Amino acid sequence: MIVYDLSCDSGHRFEGWFGSSDDYAEQRGMGLVSCPQCGSGAVEKAPMAPAVPRKGNQIPAARVQGKQAMTRGPMPPEVAAALQNLAEAQARALKDSRWVGDRFAEQSRAMHYGERPPETIHGQATPDEAAALFEEGVPVAPLPFPVAPPEDVN
Ligand SMILES: [Zn+2]
Repeated sequence: MIVYDLSCDSGHRFEGWFGSSDDYAEQRGMGLVSCPQCGSGAVEKAPMAPAVPRKGNQIPAARVQGKQAMTRGPMPPEVAAALQNLAEAQARALKDSRWVGDRFAEQSRAMHYGERPPETIHGQATPDEAAALFEEGVPVAPLPFPVAPPEDVN
């Protein structure tokens, strides 16, 4: 059973319960998915909201893991401006940081265990590597924006 946050073309939001994502696609294709408020059949998956508690239930992390939150249509200007500020803040924070690419997990761990002098680095980690680092208490944090490897920038 999966739950989708859906919204109709009038902006009503509601939850739809489906046996699987295929069920959702099939029912939507047959016009069986409609808005409970206005009956519109023009229903889309709603953009993923930040993981805030709803109706006393936390959205299970597994449901959003590995998925990119998307929005269809123009982004509200205040959101675009906030993202721009955040992107600039991230760029400033990384100015004195060294790109280590795929060696991020290995290098972070080496510093954590005192095997090499500490410095600020950034790079890429797989979800498994990131989970292992968190588990070991290595102080790492995901960056809000993707970072292009330096060799791709030039
Ligand atoms: Zn509606």
